[in-house]
Parts: sequence; C-alpha cells; structure tokens
Amino acid sequence: MMRLLPISRPPSLCALTIRSSTSASATTIHHNHLHLSSSPSSSSSSPVQTISIVHQIQQQENRNLLLHIPLEKLFVPPGIELSLENPITRILRGSNIVLSPYAKESQISEAVFVKSSKGTEDCPSDGFPEFALVGRSNVGKSSLLNSLVRRRKLALTSKKPGKTQSINHFLINNSWYLVDLPGYGYATAPQTVRTDWDDFTKDYFLNRKTLVSVFLLIDASIPAKKIDIEYATWLTQQQIPMTLIFTKCDKRKKQKNGGKRAEENVEDFHVMMHEYFQEAPPWIMTSSVTNQGRDEILLHIAQLRNYWLKH
Ligand code: GDP
Repeated sequence: MMRLLPISRPPSLCALTIRSSTSASATTIHHNHLHLSSSPSSSSSSPVQTISIVHQIQQQENRNLLLHIPLEKLFVPPGIELSLENPITRILRGSNIVLSPYAKESQISEAVFVKSSKGTEDCPSDGFPEFALVGRSNVGKSSLLNSLVRRRKLALTSKKPGKTQSINHFLINNSWYLVDLPGYGYATAPQTVRTDWDDFTKDYFLNRKTLVSVFLLIDASIPAKKIDIEYATWLTQQQIPMTLIFTKCDKRKKQKNGGKRAEENVEDFHVMMHEYFQEAPPWIMTSSVTNQGRDEILLHIAQLRNYWLKH
C-alpha cells in the first residue's frame, strides 16, 4: 500500500510515501490533487503499481490532468535512490521526475545573451554546465525559452531556413547556460541546408563536454511526427542525456489534429518510444501560455546541474 504525506508543499511538488508493494488489492487514495493506486498484475502474483498524479493544468477551465505513471517509469535523478527503504519521495508535477536533494537555487534572476556560434568549437569555453533546447520548427521553442527567463523576446535566433543558423548561448545567473539550437523539420528548407543543420547540431550533441541534457521539445497538441521519433531515437541510441519537454499542453483537442488531448498524445509518444528506451527518460508537460511546467523545468535543471557540478 502507498500513502500520502498530508503536508502542504510548494505547488510544483507532489508527495508520496511508499510503504510497501505487497498489496494485491486495488487501492486508491485521493488527496490534494494527487492519488495513488496499486492494482494487481494480470500475469504475476506481484502487483503492478500505478501512480496517478492528478492536478489542474487549466485552472480557469477547471480541467484536471490525469497522468498514470508506473513506478518503473519514473526518472530517478542521480544523487537519490528510490526504494521502499527510502519511503519519502516527491515527484515534480506534470512529469515523471523524482525530486532530489540537489534541486536548489532553481529560479532565474539574470539571463544574458552571450554568443552565436557556428559550430561546437566556437562555443563558450568557460566550462559552465549547459542545457540545449531543440525541436521541430513551430514546436514552441522560442516561447518556452522566453517563458523560462520571463522575457518577451530573449530568443533572438533567426527562424527562417536559409538564414544564419547557429548555436546560441544564454548565460543564466552567471553560472550556467541555456542553449538555443536551430529548429529541425522545415518543410521548405533545401536539402543541403537541412543536412548542414543536422551535421552541426549532431556534432554539438556528440562533442560538447559541458552539455548536461538535451531538452527535446515535442508538440503535445498534435500526434508526434516521424521526425520527432527519429530525433528522440537518435539521441537515445547515442546515449546523449535527453529530457522530453512536451509543449502546448494547454491546447484543446481538435479533430483536425487527431482529436486527442495533450496527455493522450504524450502517452502515445511513450508507447511509440517504448522499445528504444531501456530506462525512462525524464519528461515534463509544459505550456508557455499558462506557464505550466516552468518551475518544474527549472527544478529539474537545478538538480541535474548541482549534481553535475559536484561530480
Ligand atoms: P518555435 O518555432 O519552436 O520557436 O515556436 P514559437 O515559440 O515561435 O511558437 C510557434 C507558435 O506556437 C506560435 O504561434 C506560438 O504562439 C504558439 N505557441 C508556442 N507555445 C505555445 C503554448 O504553450 N501554447 C499554445 N497554445 N501555443 C503556443
């Protein structure tokens, strides 16, 4: 049986206490936007545990988001062990990410555009840890970057194919970088230009020593595109640390976009990627309109960064 800790927490955190996993009967506990359930597995005597995290993603419309995350699909960051002996676990809201003691100093107080680089060798050499945003054009990358740093127009990158494409470094709090990479998948870009982007972003992923995690943005308001699956598969096969950032989670389902809600598209993406992932990558549901996921991304970055700096 799993129990909740009945104490109040910052809104981005969900708390749960795992007591034991031996209950074979389905158990559901509702508490403060979170419920947990443990239900019997059909094929074995040990129960499959399902964590269901319930919280509001559109408070103005009173719509609840319901995520079902099996225990083994949680992302446990370095620096923490998830075990029944370590009963207190917190999960970042709208994600599969377990919170670690390294999640400190997450907020952004200063963001400065530093440099556009033409290749990995031109990138800043001060050794600060960095997190790179990449995604299909129109996925919401500029909006997310601006929402993270709380500015309207920080992302200055040229978005038109054929114009200068570069690796753009933004120095945050004088101690780490957010990196904006060119979008991929422009339908209108000439093949040669597409190949160039591919070459230099892949070189950056493979050779940038200070890259802590690639943030691969996936539009959750539509079914995943083939090119998104290919990108995620390539990063996984190359063992490049990747965080999946699902964007536009505020959008209502539309028939012309497949008629599915954001959380259903997220679920479909996980199912499609299942065979490629040996371990579940971290993922977060976001919206630049409601700022859903903003604090969660920053806490995720903080815990990866602080661990990276100490090791
Ligand atoms: P980029 O090409 O990846 O940099 O994408 P942009 O940030 O320019 O966004 C592309 C389009 O999607 C714009 O019309 C944005 O207003 C819209 N958009 C971006 N993020 C969101 C979001 O979270 N929710 C909604 N509803 N629209 C978004």
